[in-house]
Amino acid sequence: MKKVKKTKIDLISLTAHQLKNPLSAMKLSMQMLSEGDFGKISKEQKDIVEKILQKNETLICLVDDLLDMAKIEEKRHIHNLTLVNIDDLIESLIRFEQEEIINKKIEFKFEKPTNLQKIKLDKEKISMALQNILNNAVKYTPICGKITISLIQNGENLEIKIQDSGIGIPENQKEKLFSKFFRASNVVKIETTGSGLGLAIAKDIIESHHGKIWLESKEGEGSSFFVSLPIM
Ligand code: ADP
Repeated sequence: MKKVKKTKIDLISLTAHQLKNPLSAMKLSMQMLSEGDFGKISKEQKDIVEKILQKNETLICLVDDLLDMAKIEEKRHIHNLTLVNIDDLIESLIRFEQEEIINKKIEFKFEKPTNLQKIKLDKEKISMALQNILNNAVKYTPICGKITISLIQNGENLEIKIQDSGIGIPENQKEKLFSKFFRASNVVKIETTGSGLGLAIAKDIIESHHGKIWLESKEGEGSSFFVSLPIM
């Protein structure tokens, strides 16, 4: 089953890559045609070229989405389980965001108990999942906001809470948040960059570790994302 799936993903990836080059070449030629680089064209001819350009752009976006999706499928598989000190791992993720935290004058806290048990994880994959969540907290929290990461050992599980005082999530959109390509309406208005893939990737990775991810949020007040991982 795994082999068939991998072949399918490789095929999607390969096809998308093969399509991207001719589509980009067509775009360039049509842009030159539209701008009169090959000689003057009439208004009617220009309108038609513009329409073709629009359709071409739609196809390019579709191909990009296919490439992203193939990337997710690749990323979700956990390969390399080792005993990890989650405390150190989170410290390294914080260092990665440090510059932006300072630039935005965010009040940042990392609360953790002493003597946390090491846990078995695919370090690279879990780092990617948690980085996506932390990066969102920084991205969607305004200047002088607050972010707190807390680690709690809860019986057989380790719980990681990433709480921010950011823009929050509209109540009627919380359910869709972990779907591929979904971005909430309040975010789309203020922040144009983002693929809507980060949380979908995070969920896949966490569930591959038999963990859980969920959230609490109030629009305009902030969000808390929770990750629970079995200590095993
Ligand atoms: P994006 O690339 O848009 O950040 P994600 O998959 O990481 O994609 O997140 C999906 C959507 O979830 C975001 O577009 C945003 O609407 C919402 N979101 C995620 N984290 C937060 C957060 N900390 N505060 C507010 N909204 C968030």
